[in-house]
Amino acid sequence: MLPVPDVESTAGTRVCATHCPYCALQCGMNLSSADSAPWTVTERDFPTNRGGLCQKGWTAAELLGSPERLRQPLVRDRPSGTLRPASWEEAVDRVVGAIERTQEQYGRDAVGVFGGGSLTNEKAYLLGKFARVALRTSQIDYNGRFCMSSAAAASIKAFGIDRGLPFPLTDIPLADCILLVGSNVAETMPPIMQYFQKQKSRGGSLVVVDPRATPTTAASTLHLQITPGTDAALANGLLNIAMKEGYLDEPFIAQRTEGFDLVRRIASSYWPSRVERITGIPEQHLQHAARLLGTAKTAMILTARGPEQQSHGVDNVLAFINLVLALGKAGKPVCGYGCLTGQGNGQGGREHGQKADQLPGYRRLDNPEHRAHIAQVWGVAEEDLPKPGRSAYEMLDAMGSDGGVRTLLVFGSNLAVSAPRAGHIEKRLDALDFLMVSDFFLSETAERADVVLPSAQWAEEEGTMTNLEGRVLLRQRASEPPAGVRTDLEMISELGTRLGYQRFFPSRPAAVFEELRHASSGGTADYAGITYERIAKEDGVFWPCPDENHPGTPRLFLDQFATADGKARFHPVEFRVPAEEPDHEFPLYLTTGRIMAQYQSGTQTRRVPALMQMSPKAFVQIHPSMARTYGIGQGDQVRLTTRRGTALLAAELTPSIRMDTLFVPFHFNGSGRANLLTNPALDPVSRMPEFKVCAVRLEKGSSC
Ligand code: SF4
Repeated sequence: MLPVPDVESTAGTRVCATHCPYCALQCGMNLSSADSAPWTVTERDFPTNRGGLCQKGWTAAELLGSPERLRQPLVRDRPSGTLRPASWEEAVDRVVGAIERTQEQYGRDAVGVFGGGSLTNEKAYLLGKFARVALRTSQIDYNGRFCMSSAAAASIKAFGIDRGLPFPLTDIPLADCILLVGSNVAETMPPIMQYFQKQKSRGGSLVVVDPRATPTTAASTLHLQITPGTDAALANGLLNIAMKEGYLDEPFIAQRTEGFDLVRRIASSYWPSRVERITGIPEQHLQHAARLLGTAKTAMILTARGPEQQSHGVDNVLAFINLVLALGKAGKPVCGYGCLTGQGNGQGGREHGQKADQLPGYRRLDNPEHRAHIAQVWGVAEEDLPKPGRSAYEMLDAMGSDGGVRTLLVFGSNLAVSAPRAGHIEKRLDALDFLMVSDFFLSETAERADVVLPSAQWAEEEGTMTNLEGRVLLRQRASEPPAGVRTDLEMISELGTRLGYQRFFPSRPAAVFEELRHASSGGTADYAGITYERIAKEDGVFWPCPDENHPGTPRLFLDQFATADGKARFHPVEFRVPAEEPDHEFPLYLTTGRIMAQYQSGTQTRRVPALMQMSPKAFVQIHPSMARTYGIGQGDQVRLTTRRGTALLAAELTPSIRMDTLFVPFHFNGSGRANLLTNPALDPVSRMPEFKVCAVRLEKGSSC
């Protein structure tokens, strides 16, 4: 394979074509540097973002030279010592020593690995292989479990395959109607709005479901301001109206689907006045939304974390899939159900093996054929591959206990901020015998570690990412990492070597990708025909792409769905209340989410001055009428308490939120952490925690 040139250089100006380090839109950008000055972000006309970036993207290069970045390993001398600088040799010795001691004393599964949805495909692949081959532990999962796992599970059940969008973004403007559920893309991925704006200017309608009025709902035709946790009732209610109004596509249901009869029976009991009572959405809005969807020639239903991050997240998504199938708006051009993936590599990160039940190519660890294929690629015995392990929250919850993980290796995740019931998770982290964290900053999780390994940033290593469309992208390297910093692949490779598996773990991204292609071949997420050269030349390649002559697959399901008989599956869904509902003690709903200027746990964006100027601290949105009841004014310090803990936040009064609901962004640390409050009640299928709804008490006050 030919090496791809990292950087084009003309008359002293270096330009590197790459992608944003943050969200799943993975906007194309250039990094430019004149006369060896620090890199700055400049425009790149890439097919997804068309030159547009949000403020996070424009400021992304500032972190490359941040004075706060780690440039040397840190180690802690227990029991009471602080972190101190150390050599790589000492740091790696400590990690290897901890792994060996723990496994000798407690068994293989006492060592766990926690990955991230921002890691490149190469890292996700090698991390999964490292856990199964070098550690032979079943205990590996990643923070993507907290992100898209409900939509992934529902898509597999209904369509036989999980790819965020089954069509490219360029199809969005052509849709006559779009139902967007639980997403505020105008703030979280602003460049995508150009597609929705074009769709509306062509005369299309956009219906947005959200408990808050947001910049996205402001751009909509109709806003359905839903009571948190009632999404399945809404979907069933829209189906009920569609049935009565004759909007169903009976030939499509008969020819391309299975299982509608029971769904039809269930939907018949979700009449509009009942659904209004459950969801809080006026009956005439329900009728209007059903009419827009039902009379459209082409339509899409897109979900995001709103309906997905619930203890019934899979059912919620399945209920919307039932609706799209009953309307005959799937498996056709400019139609379909899609999930708007959140994290940068939320898609690729769940395809190549860092999930507890998964092997590369979207193969399954509990499938004998899949195990045999991967064992052969890896050159190990099939019986030596571990069985599926615990899901993310379950692994974290059991840390330090009998039968739980005693040594944890974390790559690209900040659990102390991003995990649900974060106060409890901090205690579990402290109960570990040993914690290793690889990061480029001293995150809140790294602060608690025994060893911190300084890792390279996105512009300092090449690798592939898979965006929300299923388009595999190439991030090119702009420069070497600073002295003292290593890439995650180099770390995994060294750890593998030290554990006696020298030939198993290449450290060059291109070599890892070659192996990934081979391993994924014949799998659901087949990357066999994708090369770095093709990605660079073709502005990305859509999987599945089984060989180098295959054009890739921008649109799925046009001929058949990916089930054994080619038909999509309906799944009966009854509305069930969230795990926790408001009561006398905790009388309001709490919901959490993202804001424009911050990203995920804020490890990176909280270190960018321009972003901190825009959004410097944690806050809670409260409806002014509700605030008056509590005697709370704009900017007052308030205390939120749930059954998990208490957070202190500044009050932001806004009529954009429902009277009965509070909203807290989840990017901030310390006592303003939203996840001190959130409920870890898990979806029974996806094991997704219920980040999006719990019961909360509001009080004026500045102490816990
Ligand atoms: Fe980066 Fe997402 Fe913003 Fe694009 S929308 S610039 S990928 S954070």
